[in-house]
Order: sequence, then structure tokens, then C-alpha cells
Amino acid sequence: MTVADRKLGVFDSVADAIGYTPLIRLNRVTEGIAATVYLKAEYLNPLGSVKDRAARAMIDAAEAAGELRPGGTVVESTSGNTGIALAAIAASRGYRTIVVVPDKSSAEKLALLRAYGVEVHVTVGGLPRQHPEFLKNVALRLAADIPGAWYSGQYDNPANPAAHRETTGPEIWSQTAGRVTHFVAGIGTGGTITGTGEYLKSVSDGQVRVIGADPESSVYSGGDGHAWYVESIGHYLHPRTDSDEWPQSYHPEVVDRIERVPDAEAFGVLRRLAREEGLLVGGSTGTAVAAALRVARTLGPGDVVVAIAPDSGRNYLSKYFDPQWLGRLGFDIASAEPGPLVGDR
Ligand code: PMP
Repeated sequence: MTVADRKLGVFDSVADAIGYTPLIRLNRVTEGIAATVYLKAEYLNPLGSVKDRAARAMIDAAEAAGELRPGGTVVESTSGNTGIALAAIAASRGYRTIVVVPDKSSAEKLALLRAYGVEVHVTVGGLPRQHPEFLKNVALRLAADIPGAWYSGQYDNPANPAAHRETTGPEIWSQTAGRVTHFVAGIGTGGTITGTGEYLKSVSDGQVRVIGADPESSVYSGGDGHAWYVESIGHYLHPRTDSDEWPQSYHPEVVDRIERVPDAEAFGVLRRLAREEGLLVGGSTGTAVAAALRVARTLGPGDVVVAIAPDSGRNYLSKYFDPQWLGRLGFDIASAEPGPLVGDR
């Protein structure tokens, strides 16, 4: 495919249309802030999320290594977006897909998976790693039992962070003409923050600051792992039994600081992004933008902050944007105030 084809928006397949997502400046929620803050609109990828990039890279690598062959089956354990991206790319290449999801996944995500013809297994979320029904253990069992099955293993697959080193990072660098000074992302598998952060640091002689945005109780930022409501980011490992198990897709040394964002603050930011910027985005974007705004408040006019918007708010209309859901759980979004800036790690 030529550069001219991409400019015209002509692609050979759905996988070829992944990437080159827009940077969109925030203009109203940044009132009183001197720095420029951009959202990298990953929800405009063809399969709807930042995970399109990792899914394509993992399937390409498995094909190249001979682990995934014609007629094969893709198996993954995922909260949804990786499964959707894998399923769509797999469908376009003639593979079958099975995904195992935790029971807190939204109804919209499950319906989407089924629409792509995926076999969905729902398990209890939040179980310890040793439990036979732990997400990954169920997926590994299925992959072992089905002939021609390949487990994509996004948490430990090097193709996941590599996808962001090779695409997301270079896109942000060229879209900001090398002016980006701060990069903010939530941490799920860690692929996005690791790959993008490593690339941006390498091209800026280590000048770009990388900021993780973490749910308040996630163990990535020192929480105790008790439940939170923002989907797809944070880590709940049981500290006593599992504290040495970090995903290999996450390289903590690339992260300069982590902001701990309570659910209520993330939901308050989501509401403002929709009503003041016209941007309907998901919970992990709310967490990332809340962290980006905290950081941006401390910066000057020459600074350029880029926050990742992994998916769309359309996936969560029955949750974060539903006043009854919010009210039932005791969230007072209208009065949610931005949190304090947390110190450097
Ligand atoms: N937000 C959403 C909505 C996601 O689906 C994911 C992927 N689990 C993330 C954030 C985190 O991205 P990563 O896995 O690259 O850390």
C-alpha cells in the first residue's frame, strides 16, 4: 500500500486501516491551564480501540512464527477490546476466535464479541492467579484442548508493546512535530504506556515524561487491589500471594510518575469531556485525562501533554453515562472535584 492510498483512505483489509488516529486538542476542560493538552483518539481505530494495534501485531507475529496456521483458532482472556480486535482480524483471515471475559465486562462489549461470531466464556473476575477459574487459566485450558489453537497472551506477548513502539509512539512524535513533553496513559497490560513511552523517550533523549494513570486502589500505584469500576486498567493482584507477578508487557521503569485517580474523578471528567468538548470516551480515558489535567496544571505554555483515549463512551452508556447506575453506586459526579497532584515516584 502506498502513502497516497493511506491519505485517500483506501485499504486492502480492516487490519491495514488500523492506526494514524487523530490528535484532538482539549479546549474547555483546560480552562486556566497554560499547557496544551491533546487526546490521541484511539477509539477511531476501525475496530474501536487502542487494542487494534496490539491485536494486529500479535496475529502477524504468530503467523510469522508458524504458531497460527490456516483454519486455526485464536484464544484470549480479555475484558473485551482485545477480543473484539482479535476477532475481527481473525475473521478477515479465516480464523475462529474464543475469548474468556470477566463478569464485570459491559453488556455492550459481550454483544459485540458475539456479533463477530466469537465464542464467549464469562468467568468470575478478581480471582487469585492460582484459582482454576482465573481468566488466564480458563483460556490456557481451552487453548490446550483445541487442536490448532493459539493463545495470544496479551499480558506477556512482546508483540503488544512492540506495536506501540512501532506505531503509536512515532505517530505522536510526528503529529506534534517533536513538541510532545508529557505522555499519559492508563495501564492495563502495560503495552500502550511501555511501547509508546519507550519510543518517545528514545527520540527525545529521555526528555518526554511518561505518566501512568491508575485507579486509586490498583496495585500498580500501591493500592490494596480492592475493586474499582473503571474497566480495563489497573491491577488487582493479591499482594501476599502474587506480588512478584507483573505482566511482561509492562516495563515499570519507563514510567516517571503515576497519578492515582478515584473512580468518581474519572467519571466527572468523562461527563465534562462529553458536555464541554463533544468527546464521548470510555472510563480509562476519564482516568487518563484526569491525570493529564493534574499534571498540565503544573506546566507552562511550551508544554504539550498527550493523553491516550483507548475507547469510546458508546461501550459504557449503561454504566458511566447512566445516572441511575452512578446513583446506585453512590457516585456524585456533578460535584466531583479534580484530585491533588501525587508526588514523583
Ligand atoms: N483502556 C481500555 C478501554 C482498554 O481496553 C485497555 C486494554 N486492556 C487499556 C485501557 C489499557 O491498555 P494496555 O493494555 O495497552 O495497557
